[in-house]
Formats: sequence, C-alpha cells, structure tokens
Amino acid sequence: MSLLIRNALVYDGSGAAPMKADVAVEGGAIVGVGPDLPVRADEVRDAGGLALAPGFIDVHTHDDAVALEADGLHPKLSQGVTTVVTGNCGISLAPSPMAGREAPPPPLDLIGEAAAYRFPRFVDFLDALRAFTPGCNVVPLVGHHVLRARAMADLARPAADHEIEAMRADLAEALAAGAAGLSTGLAYPPARHATTDEIAALAADVAAAGRIWTTHMRDERLGVVSSVAETLDVARRSGVRTLISHHKCCGEAAFGLSATTLAMIETARKTMPIDLDLYPYTASSTVLIETFARDSRKVTVSWSDPHPEMAGRDLAEICAEWGVDQNEAIGRLRPGGAIYHQMDDGDLERILAYPPTLVGSDGLPRDKRPHPRLWGAFPRVLGHYARDKGVISLQTAIAKMTGQTAKTLHLADRGRIAPGCKADLVLFDPAAIHDAADYDHPVRPAEGIAGVWVNGVLAWAEGAPTDAPRAGQVLAA
Ligand SMILES: [Zn+2]
Repeated sequence: MSLLIRNALVYDGSGAAPMKADVAVEGGAIVGVGPDLPVRADEVRDAGGLALAPGFIDVHTHDDAVALEADGLHPKLSQGVTTVVTGNCGISLAPSPMAGREAPPPPLDLIGEAAAYRFPRFVDFLDALRAFTPGCNVVPLVGHHVLRARAMADLARPAADHEIEAMRADLAEALAAGAAGLSTGLAYPPARHATTDEIAALAADVAAAGRIWTTHMRDERLGVVSSVAETLDVARRSGVRTLISHHKCCGEAAFGLSATTLAMIETARKTMPIDLDLYPYTASSTVLIETFARDSRKVTVSWSDPHPEMAGRDLAEICAEWGVDQNEAIGRLRPGGAIYHQMDDGDLERILAYPPTLVGSDGLPRDKRPHPRLWGAFPRVLGHYARDKGVISLQTAIAKMTGQTAKTLHLADRGRIAPGCKADLVLFDPAAIHDAADYDHPVRPAEGIAGVWVNGVLAWAEGAPTDAPRAGQVLAA
C-alpha cells in the first residue's frame, strides 16, 4: 500500500521553516519528500496546502491501561498524537505490585484498579501490547512506585539495602524487556520516603543500560528549587539522561520560581543531558491529596469511588454542603482525583518558550471528569500558545512535539518527515487548529485536524476514528 500526499505545507519536525512539498509513503515509511514528486501511488491525497507534520509524540502519558483498549487512545489520535510514552510519575501497569494487596496504593489507582495490574513481569505487559496492537505507538517506562510496592509492604519509610536490590532486579527485568527507562514520582506517598541515594542507585542502572530517567519531582511548590537541585544531584551521580516531567511552580508563593529553576537547568545542561516537558494548562490533576488542595485557587473533583456523584463538583461547595473542612471532605471522597488550579501563566509561558522544553499531555484517561489536557494539550500549544499568543513559532511548537522529543527518547526513525522515517503524520489547518476541550466540556475533540496516520495507516480523519485496523507499535528500547 503506497500513499502520496500532494501539495502540503511540510513542517519536518526539525524546527525549520515549512516548505511546500509532496510526501510519498510506502510500507509504513516515508520514501520521498519534495516538490512535485514524480511518484505513482495506490492512493493520492491532495492536502490543499494544509500543514503536514510528523505525528506528535506525547512524552508524558498515563495511557498504560487504555493502550490495551480498542478506543483507549482516541483522545490522543484526535489531537494528532501517534506515539505515547507510558509509565510516567512512577506509575506503570507492570510489573504487578498486587501481591499481598487488595487495591493498588494511590496514585497507582490513577491508571487502573486491582484487576488491571495483572502482568507479573514487565515483559508480560509488552507481550500483551504487541498481541493487541495499540492505536498509537507506545514507548514504555517502568515506574518506581510499582518496583517499591513489590519490594516493600510498608512504603512509608526509606528502603533497606536488600529492598533496593529487589527493586534493581525488577528494574533489570524491565530494561531487558525493552523499557525506555525508569520514572519516579517522589511527590507521591509510595515514594515520599525514598532517599536520594535510593533513586541514584536505580538511576545508575538506567544509565548503564543507556536509558532515560523521568521524574515527577519531590516538590513542585515552594520547594521546587530544592527539587531541581536533588534531580541534578541524581543525574550527576548516576550519569543518567534525565527528563524533568511537567515542570511547573504550584501555589502563589512559588510563582516566578521558574526563572531560577530554568537557570539551574541551563547551567546543568552544559555538562549533563537534562531535558524537561510541560503541559499547557495552569491547573494540574492527580489523586486527591490534602497538600495539593491547600495551595490551589480552586479544586474540582474529577472522580471519587465512594461519591461518584461529586465528579465535576467544586471541593469548596462540597465542604459547605457537608459542613466539613477541606481535609475531612478529601478523606470522605478518597479514593478519588481532582483538578487543582494552582499555576501562573507567566511561569507556563516562560517554561514553554525555553528551547529544551518538550510538550506532553499528562492526560488521565480513566477520570470521569478529566482535566481537558487529555483531549486538548497539543492543539492548545499550536493554537492558543503559538498562533494566538505568539509565545513560540509554529515550527518550534511542532519540533517540541516531534523531532526534539524523538531525539530525547532516542527514537531514530520517528519525529521527522524525512525519507527513512516511519510514516507517523498529522495533517492540520494551522489557521483553525484549537483545543475544544475546556474545564466545563473536558471531552471534546480538538478542531482543525484533518488526518492522522500511524505507521502509514490513516487512523483518524475529520473528527472521527477511521475503521482501519489499529497500527501502533511497541517501541521497545
Ligand atoms: Zn506526574
């Protein structure tokens, strides 16, 4: 099956200015790029001058479980995403942490309930993904929370040496199976008591395997500066390639600290491979945690197992209705999740404009009332932040979702429109693209996306999935 897309404005993913060109695809790969290609193809499509970019790489997802569902990656395909990095923030579906437990300890319940954690080893998860064929390509990380929960019954303490050895054995299995790297989430209860030494020991194994460490840092509020210092310390000691996840400064007291953190990162980058990503919203979302709610202007409940009727409700209203304080309400609503309005657009724009920063969604696909980033993150950067606000150029925005991301993840044949690269492509209207999902209507597909190809297969077109078979691949390291 060959495809020729004619008359496109090609953004090749390198950050270079676009050029009018045709793109020829054969056997799932790009075989030619240039003006007026003299190529015959089974299918010819006139792009009508629309923008053609490499399929977006969502560098920060929690799509582990939904990658195994037929329509689970539709929120991503609808935005032009063709590759998702799973297993972030310490949370991965494998290897299973369920021995001796009835429920996955929060935040592992963000991606699935007990039954979802059914893979004894990391390789079993990858085998299941391959057998299923996901809707997008998957770059799988293994999460520190599950390693820790397998090694320790009581997570509220530092790990002993033999427990770190047990984590290292599981990590070795995951890396051998093809995990792209290790993620940690030191802000979360299962890892809060993990020492810097514990993380450095694991990071050294990741470095030895040539893989990447992604970190949801210990503190993204007033302590964000010391968290960056800890991150750089681990990177220096282990030599690991490091990706700081969803960089942000939460709570009014921390507004503006990104000037300091980016300066630290910039200095460190002179001697170490440090990158970072962000999602383009001033509200975060995760499980219900008292300290996260405390620093927020507004908190919206996104899901609650004991009180499902409260999804979408304002936490302050719930407190008033129940006549209880915030902590008591959170206790009653848990297990549950929330959206925390707690960032400043000035920090967001500064971080987005910083050249090394990549774009991710951090979408939570299981939430009843999800944060709109699940359906809108990429079009929001292209429309709101690049075209409308001019924070970065369109070609820079695209590079932060494609070529730059592929480079950081060591994906040699993704993220570029060039001969030899896989035909992950998105065709969109630069004048019309925008995120339609917002906090009031969080599951609306973005507008302006004309077509999305995964490995040469048209997977999404004109606002809906096609009936082509799923074409995603597991991009094991
Ligand atoms: Zn996170």
